[in-house]
Amino acid sequence: MTLQIAIDGPAASGKSTVAKLLAARINGLYVNTGEMYRAVAAAAYKLNIDPEKNPQELVKHLPEWTLEYKLDTEKDCLELYFNGEPVDHAFLRSKEVSDIVSQAAAIPEVRDWMLQKQRDCAKLPIIVMEGRDIQTVVLPNATYKFFITASAEERAKRRLNQGDFKDGTTLAEVAAQIAMRDQIDSTREIAPLKAADDALTIMTDGMTPDEVVDRMIEFMRENPRQ
Ligand code: C5P
Repeated sequence: MTLQIAIDGPAASGKSTVAKLLAARINGLYVNTGEMYRAVAAAAYKLNIDPEKNPQELVKHLPEWTLEYKLDTEKDCLELYFNGEPVDHAFLRSKEVSDIVSQAAAIPEVRDWMLQKQRDCAKLPIIVMEGRDIQTVVLPNATYKFFITASAEERAKRRLNQGDFKDGTTLAEVAAQIAMRDQIDSTREIAPLKAADDALTIMTDGMTPDEVVDRMIEFMRENPRQ
């Protein structure tokens, strides 16, 4: 028996923070599928490939690349490896990668390449997986589905406070980048961002991450599925 918790939501909605907290509270493993798309975008960036102008150039490289999660038994978490090397998390979150990741993630062949890798992770006993299409495409039969969201202003503030940006970056610049990614993610033809019909949507403005996780756990207690 596996417990699969699928979490989706727009950029900077705080879903990674709550997914990690939830995984820790229920002794599960956390999978961040955005990081998987970021690893592919980072590889394209290093090869000077523009995924929007030249998607087929990126697609050509997919058979050469490996991307897998390995269990770190000391830290009891999953670590992402690209071509056998642990990924550079700071670079994956950089502006350079953030600017092109949605374009890379809109390429159908890239999504196909990811799908089985993501489903393989879900074979682990307790998994909390977050992204954009987890409840709708990757794990449509997940035990619980949550859609985590927040207002555009709140999301821009949260992302700026995470400190992934160069000094001097303004709230307006962060908001513009988030809006650009949301637009691409929710209008693409394949696996667009949306809440599944059977998901619990949580609007998190004014809530702390712990309060969001409390709400999720309360929902799971009220709706036992195992
Ligand atoms: O979650 P994060 O913001 O790091 O995701 C980066 C990008 O990866 C998203 O903007 C989206 O384009 C893509 N993504 C996706 N499907 C997922 C997870 C992320 O298309 N399941």
